[in-house]
Amino acid sequence: MRYISTRGAWGDDPQPFCAILQEGLAPDGGLAVPQAYPRFTGPELAALRPLGYRELAFAVLSRFIDDMPAADLRRIVADTYTAAVFGSDEITPLATLAPGLFLLRVSNGPTMAFKDIALQLVGNLFEYVLGRNQGSINILGATSGDTGSSAEYAMRGKRGITVFMLSPLGRMSPFQQAQMFSLADPNIFNIAIDGTFDDCQDLVKAVANDAEFKARWKIGAVNSINWGRIAAQVVYYFKGYFAATTENAQRVDFAVPSGNFGNILAAHVAREMGLPIRRLILATNENDVLDEFFRTGRYRPRSASETHATSSPSMDISKASNFERFIFDVTGRNPETLRELWSTLATDGGFDLSQTPHWAQVQAAGFVSGRSTHADRLATIREIATRYGIVIDPHTADGVKVGLELRDPATPLICVETALPAKFAATIREAVGRDPARPAVWRGLETRPQHSTTLAADAGLVKAFIAEHAAAA
Ligand SMILES: *Cc1c(COP(=O)(O)O)cnc(C)c1O
Repeated sequence: MRYISTRGAWGDDPQPFCAILQEGLAPDGGLAVPQAYPRFTGPELAALRPLGYRELAFAVLSRFIDDMPAADLRRIVADTYTAAVFGSDEITPLATLAPGLFLLRVSNGPTMAFKDIALQLVGNLFEYVLGRNQGSINILGATSGDTGSSAEYAMRGKRGITVFMLSPLGRMSPFQQAQMFSLADPNIFNIAIDGTFDDCQDLVKAVANDAEFKARWKIGAVNSINWGRIAAQVVYYFKGYFAATTENAQRVDFAVPSGNFGNILAAHVAREMGLPIRRLILATNENDVLDEFFRTGRYRPRSASETHATSSPSMDISKASNFERFIFDVTGRNPETLRELWSTLATDGGFDLSQTPHWAQVQAAGFVSGRSTHADRLATIREIATRYGIVIDPHTADGVKVGLELRDPATPLICVETALPAKFAATIREAVGRDPARPAVWRGLETRPQHSTTLAADAGLVKAFIAEHAAAA
């Protein structure tokens, strides 16, 4: 398995997995994708059905990662997906709400969000690759909440890795802030920026665009375009499918709360690999750029000022960074077409596929979509709690709302739970009038000592801080 860029780089020299693992963007600004998706035959799929999570993860991931000894990958997978870290050997248990209606619980990792599934693995893969080359890396990221804590809990204490995480001063929830800032590991640096999340992202870009600084300090990224994260997420679609069905002739629908299009892209990849998925139901909140695309064919990223702050904040995105990989697939995997669309995007602020031959391919990809509002989230949380006795988080509620709306009664529906409700207590109180249950390890979190440095939104200051605290190059 070798990787190319959606925009054509590496076309003559496709890269192995470990070479793209620590890349943010490809050198041409594109995203790494497999040259062709690996495919499971019918008998191979049947052989996957009885496997436990770790064996299944190895079977899927070894199709994407074939440039390390199989025994090493098997060990990394086994060390990552443990009951101690994810709460059970199931790793991503499937809850049955009613006959044909399921909740895939992928949020039982260390920070109570699905991003742990991927980042815990990526942290261990980074450490392995760095150890092999005796290298080090300084990870620079920006977060408005979930990504930052998930990345920090995945990288804490890892040899060769130092994390610099920028967050907007005073703009995260008290829980999210305490989750990150209470870490005392010497390789984790929380930098509170006096500004907004967009300022934080701009600072990351400004630092990464300084090629000399980037090379000197080996600046790396773990953002949602990292292919290792997508590959890790493919696994739980297989797991959920096998848990909800009894034989591989059955097809299912998945409902996925979406922001940067990473989670649902993994479902699309799973289907390309042969998993019998009928439809992917994409849910957005009020930030509905993706819903608009799947309904109309028009992709129109929003400006920062058009992006709403909602009660499902991890889906408050203006443009969907992983979307480029999907568009690459549905436009014939032709880098030239992709470059043209992205140049139209840069000049016109959007593109429209509805009048092109590509639109038929988008529709053949089997996506449907819908959007949800704050009132919908509250009503859905209330309804699921009343009917099934399970309190879901506001992001999951967006997915359940749209999933139920577009449900086909003859097809099992699996709703993907993307966070635990304990992270979003205010919205849960508003919905059901009581606090969500908080796992014991998080009791008293907000009163623990916090560690962070506050800086003005100035790239020079961020660089100076990194230079002072970076892992030795
Ligand atoms: C990141 C996140 C999402 C959005 O997932 P994408 O992969 O960006 O589409 C949804 N819900 C929660 C809780 C998240 O943390």
